[in-house]
Amino acid sequence: MKSRKLVIAGNWKMYKTVGEAVALSRLLKRDLAEVKAADLIVCPTFTALKTVSDEIANSNLRLGAQNMHWEKEGAFTGEISAAMLRDVFCQFVIIGHSERRQFFGETDDSVNRKTKAALAAQLKPIVCVGETLAQRDGGQVEAVVTAQVKNGLAGLTAEQALDSILAYEPVWAIGTGRNATPEQAQEVHSLIRCTLAEMFDAATAAKVRIQYGGSVKPANAASLMAQPDIDGALVGGASLDAKSFVEIVQNGLGA
Ligand code: PEP
Repeated sequence: MKSRKLVIAGNWKMYKTVGEAVALSRLLKRDLAEVKAADLIVCPTFTALKTVSDEIANSNLRLGAQNMHWEKEGAFTGEISAAMLRDVFCQFVIIGHSERRQFFGETDDSVNRKTKAALAAQLKPIVCVGETLAQRDGGQVEAVVTAQVKNGLAGLTAEQALDSILAYEPVWAIGTGRNATPEQAQEVHSLIRCTLAEMFDAATAAKVRIQYGGSVKPANAASLMAQPDIDGALVGGASLDAKSFVEIVQNGLGA
């Protein structure tokens, strides 16, 4: 039995209209109502946040966003602020997802600014890190992931680190159907925890929750979440279907 509570989040990416998002939320609310041993988060698109927020109010589902800007407000067309997310009762926000790094120019520096802005606004950041296939094949996993953690969380206090969640998402496993083996994932999770101990202290590092993400499915959820340093999952594709997300939660909890 782990001392850290599992945290399982669904990243709905750029899928689902408002109506579809509400319908999915309703099923999850019904089928996951009894779950107390894990924190459950849904991350719809911006347009669906308010309606999903209303739908899951008074349930055990929590609301997360997929991105935000680091500035409080201003002339930043197309961006969303932390305060706007709080306004619709978001409690979490995904920061530095590899799709944002890959397609929208996110860097460790923007990840750091966003992480600090989220924490300042009482939003819990889910900070994503992970290597590409070329970096893994080139033996750079440790260097890449350590740098992403150090730069992404630079300047945080230990208390702020405890309010953050890390997500290890190897880029080669996202949306590819090819998950990291539990052993591969555990190795990197343990490395991340060592990095956190170096940056903060051992007690803090022992408490920070680190999710695994990358083709998590009902069939692999239990073996991944059974690993000593894996504290849940960030689920993309399989979170778009109520049945598969519910099974991931159930299997993960059985782990
Ligand atoms: C993700 O979007 O964070 C993710 C891990 O996607 P998938 O589960 O589809 O690989």
